[in-house]
Amino acid sequence: MEVDIFQTNIQLTKNSRLPQVNWDNLPFGKLFSDHMFTMDFENGNWSKPTIMPYGNISLSPANSAIHYGQSCFEGMKAHRNLNGDVVLFRPYENARRFNRSNKRMCIPEINEEVFVNSILELISIDKKWVPQNLGHSLYIRPFIFATDPYIGIKPSDSYKFMIFTCPVGSYYSEPVSVKVETQYSRAVQGGTGFSKAAGNYAAALYPAMLAAKQGFRQLIWTDAKEHKYIEEAGTMNVLFVIDNVLVTPIAGDTILNGITRKSVVDIAKDWGMEVQERKIEVQEVFGALKDGSLTEAFGAGTAATIAPISNISLNGENFTIPESKDYHFHTKVLKYLSEYKIGKHPDKFNWLVKV
Ligand SMILES: *Cc1c(COP(=O)(O)O)cnc(C)c1O
Repeated sequence: MEVDIFQTNIQLTKNSRLPQVNWDNLPFGKLFSDHMFTMDFENGNWSKPTIMPYGNISLSPANSAIHYGQSCFEGMKAHRNLNGDVVLFRPYENARRFNRSNKRMCIPEINEEVFVNSILELISIDKKWVPQNLGHSLYIRPFIFATDPYIGIKPSDSYKFMIFTCPVGSYYSEPVSVKVETQYSRAVQGGTGFSKAAGNYAAALYPAMLAAKQGFRQLIWTDAKEHKYIEEAGTMNVLFVIDNVLVTPIAGDTILNGITRKSVVDIAKDWGMEVQERKIEVQEVFGALKDGSLTEAFGAGTAATIAPISNISLNGENFTIPESKDYHFHTKVLKYLSEYKIGKHPDKFNWLVKV
């Protein structure tokens, strides 16, 4: 997979920070690997791919991404498998989603091979930053933003695509208590909810902060029109097991099409479980909580993979979900996915790409 259509300019650091890393205590998202990738879009073309030491960048104060948020990102992980090789999980899915996000924000497309190869190139240089500890991984953050120094509101003519990486520990999520949000909205029909556009996340901070003040770790977003249908759990997709059926909202234009959710659905089907991707009414979830047919609720996303939900609250009424048991689907699927990523199972779905 060495389709290097550009000649990347590589500037290696003279001061690797590797010796200072405490591998047994990795903070999330604060420790950055030695190098970063940058590539500029100017005059209608991508050029100047560079790998250089991680560091600050200089921007015009009139940069339109800062003012108007013309910016998107991706999030993915590299793992070290049992042979010590470094593998990416479904990176072409991220490449495709990045382009869907960018299209909505009038940001130029990046060829999928170029996107994946840029990541492979950066990681092969910072391979030693991929943790050796089982279950630990290298978080990869590709992102793109407008760079025109112009405060008129229009699509920028120039952009910068960058990638940096962070070694991260294994992320075990304690079961969390969540609140069904019926006042604020994350996404609206025809809006940008399906896109990993920067502004979506800023807009979600305030309702999440209010929920945190009430003691909830996360929100369950509902549709903006009626607050009648379940959409997502914070920045994760949400799935339920009701009467032994895996039920999850359809990823439409208000729901981000998560790769973890998609993988969980694929695995469930492969295991012969019934899966329903459909609209889910808030009332259905509460009915199922009341009559005991809802046995599991969990979020799915790259950071935690699976985040079990212990309590769901709606307008002050609180329901507890029976505690996680080993036979629970989400426990099994988390184990399987974690093992899959490190090569413990055959790559039957063709999800792994070796660096
Ligand atoms: C990134 C993201 C997800 C999860 O997507 P993955 O591909 O599984 O990491 C879910 N919801 C939102 C809002 C997201 O930004």
